[in-house]
Amino acid sequence: MSEIFGSGLKVADKPSNESVGSNSPREASRGPPEDWGSTTKRSLDNGFEIETNWNKTVEKFDDLGIKEKLLRGIYSYGFENPSAIQQRAILPAAQGRDVIAQAQSGTGKTATFAISVLERIDEEDPACQALIMAPTRELVIQIRGVVYALAEYMSVRVAFCVGGNEVSVDAAKIDGAQVVVGTPGRVFDLMNRKMLKTEKIHILVLDEADEMLSRGFKEQIVNILKKISDKAQIVLMSATMPPDALELSQKFMQNPVQILVKKEELTLDGIRQFYVNCEKEEFKVDTLCDLYETMTITQAVIFCNTKRKVIHVQTELTNNQHTVSAIHSDMPQKEREVVMNEFRTGSSRVLIATDLIARGIDVQQVSLVINFDLPARRENYIHRIGRSGRFGRKGVSINFVTRNDIRIMKDLEDFYHTKIEELPKNVMDLL
Ligand code: AMP
Repeated sequence: MSEIFGSGLKVADKPSNESVGSNSPREASRGPPEDWGSTTKRSLDNGFEIETNWNKTVEKFDDLGIKEKLLRGIYSYGFENPSAIQQRAILPAAQGRDVIAQAQSGTGKTATFAISVLERIDEEDPACQALIMAPTRELVIQIRGVVYALAEYMSVRVAFCVGGNEVSVDAAKIDGAQVVVGTPGRVFDLMNRKMLKTEKIHILVLDEADEMLSRGFKEQIVNILKKISDKAQIVLMSATMPPDALELSQKFMQNPVQILVKKEELTLDGIRQFYVNCEKEEFKVDTLCDLYETMTITQAVIFCNTKRKVIHVQTELTNNQHTVSAIHSDMPQKEREVVMNEFRTGSSRVLIATDLIARGIDVQQVSLVINFDLPARRENYIHRIGRSGRFGRKGVSINFVTRNDIRIMKDLEDFYHTKIEELPKNVMDLL
């Protein structure tokens, strides 16, 4: 055992190269393979950076050398060609290498790891072989849906487990699943109860890795890592990768392939950013009501910083005869699922939310994000407004600011090297 995480947390030593079995899934990650490109360092607009040490790209799904049935699933899901991150990260991940991939929200990260995981599943073996974890229940359910859909022509069982559901129900669901997607707390609980067997898990994916390696989840992730073979492959995906998360990851990964999608693709290009000067907090609701018609042209998400504010804004809009739905973490799990489902299918058009859904949630019709409050953490700005403009579509974000917010907005502009302009009258034409 070695102490590697500070504060007394320990995980088993990763094996030295010599001690890795010849059929180890991690074998491919040992030593620098010939096709690793030279190390290039790029600086991101948002100040976070990783070093790219892998420059190989595969421009067609056909050229990935993956299972025929999986390829069929990809095409019938509607994908024609891989996105930038998919062109770079699927190959090494599907080959069993440890991968850290950083790319902007909405550029196809979910399919990147979903395809890699499916390629690495032995369909004949009923044991759980892959574990994918994400920070929120909504994201877990969304990921499970993508993996399940891509596996349409394979015989792979994919299940999810999240807090808020009965443990016995989750245990039954994951029984016999070869791919399990879950939130860390529930995953750990099921592992402890020996309901989730870990012996055969040979690929572990952390989506929104920076969040997963941050204070709230770090200890749980370390505990989960302790229960998984130290030969298991690890894949980290995130839009942002602060240095401390990156440093931590180096402690449990082996020679990871590091992929940073190039700078232009990481900016907020494609998302027009505006502000409305509401002067005072109490004027924000009126401004929102004025924008209601605009919001329902497509679909919109309104972010507030607290659950109380979400409920307040929902009540105010409802009192003004506007139809809106809301989501926050104090709601029962079933209700959260219903709300997300209605929003995904388009039967609800305006969703008021906390940062619970700031990350990763993908609803293609969302072209407008309103920050009723500017985010308390500036990293969340890119995550929040990335809910619009998915996969190259146009997006608009509108920030409500009071006199006190002007400076915070200026800070955001500096941090992201971007310009937030005053909302023009013709905003509807931009959607
Ligand atoms: P993600 O970043 O994983 O949330 O994906 C963002 C959106 O892009 C989702 O709606 C995906 O279905 C879509 N997408 C991902 N990869 C591709 C692809 N290769 N071709 C077309 N759409 C894609």
